[in-house]
Amino acid sequence: MLAIALARRGVSVDLAEISPQWHGVGHGITVQGNLLAALDKVGALGAVLDRGVPFNQLRMRQADGTLIAEVPTPRTGGPALPATLGALRSDLQAVLCECVYASGVTVRLGLSPGRSPRTPGGLTLSSPTAAPAATTWSSARTASGPRCAPCSASPPRPSRPACPSGGWSPAGRRRWTAPSCTTAVPGTRPGTARSRRPSAYAYLLDVDGAQGDFGTAPAWRLMYERSAGYGGTWGKIRETIGPDSSVSHTRIEWLLVDEPWHRGRAVVIGDAAHACPPLIAQGAAMCAEDAVVLAELVTGGLPVEQALPAFTARRMPRVELVVRNSMRLVRWEMGLEPHTDADVARVMSSTLGFLAASEP
Ligand SMILES: Cc1cc2nc3c(=O)[nH]c(=O)nc-3n(C[C@H](O)[C@H](O)[C@H](O)COP(=O)(O)OP(=O)(O)OC[C@H]3O[C@@H](n4cnc5c(N)ncnc54)[C@H](O)[C@@H]3O)c2cc1C
Repeated sequence: MLAIALARRGVSVDLAEISPQWHGVGHGITVQGNLLAALDKVGALGAVLDRGVPFNQLRMRQADGTLIAEVPTPRTGGPALPATLGALRSDLQAVLCECVYASGVTVRLGLSPGRSPRTPGGLTLSSPTAAPAATTWSSARTASGPRCAPCSASPPRPSRPACPSGGWSPAGRRRWTAPSCTTAVPGTRPGTARSRRPSAYAYLLDVDGAQGDFGTAPAWRLMYERSAGYGGTWGKIRETIGPDSSVSHTRIEWLLVDEPWHRGRAVVIGDAAHACPPLIAQGAAMCAEDAVVLAELVTGGLPVEQALPAFTARRMPRVELVVRNSMRLVRWEMGLEPHTDADVARVMSSTLGFLAASEP
């Protein structure tokens, strides 16, 4: 997103990606209105809308499928855009890749930034010696200097013990028309989002652990077993999980990097600066907003020494609210603090309401 946003503003961009090829990402994503608004600013909205399914409410259900509440989702991207779009990550990636190449960005795969006192900004690009890292562990942040909070200079924290942090995401062969839903069996929480293809994106938040901690069975079998006890729509989806389902397991971490997010002319954005469990489904939206705002500020006439602090100052209130409230929801999910279903609905809608009412 940042590469496209900068290139559209006339900047000559080299994009370095540590992976030697664009690696596919199979499962789904909840694209909220503010992410759609950011996509609009980089000319990618139409193609993404064409490939997703819009919906405007969140249904929360008991484990047996009984409806607890239907909450209208605030339109965080403004009244002209859907509140939410169910999409596949591979579709989003394909659209963004097309835009990257179409906007004239020079793509340099298999390269990683490192420190160099001899280059402008103190950074250089080279082939990595280690395996590709997740962004929250990114050497880009190490190279550029900012520190994580609250863990200071230490690596980002797994959300455990406060987080149901195993995510399982199947894409069954049937097409489901149910909107997102939330139900609960102690220790786990599933949800769904729609996708336009004849498949569904469903996820199961679980207790923390590597996949091997849950057993040696294939991922689809583990997901099937771990989601026993759910009825309603999720129960029907569960019955379609099988060897041909695409199921992945991801451990979820969280971090919030202290201000400033830059050192010299190097700056970190997205998950490298702030990441949290996807309980409000705002991670990618925050990353996309970062990209658009940073491009606006560094090309807006301010010297870069002023633009970069202005960027962090502008982004911190939104990002901090999303991280704080996501972690509050995690604590509730894990039963570490008393709460009611109404509390969950209130925190989700007040967070999204704030995002809808304020500028990115
Ligand atoms: C299970 C799960 C479900 C989620 N669901 C949602 C959702 O529904 N909605 C939502 O909005 N968000 C969701 N998120 C959050 C969202 O996926 C992330 O916030 C978002 O992908 C982060 O984007 P990013 O570009 O910052 O990092 P990434 O998507 O991690 O991309 C970073 C890129 O940088 C590359 N890279 C890493 N290190 C280096 C290096 N040293 N040098 C060069 N390249 C490097 C990586 O290979 C990668 O291609 C979810 C997250 C998880 C884990």
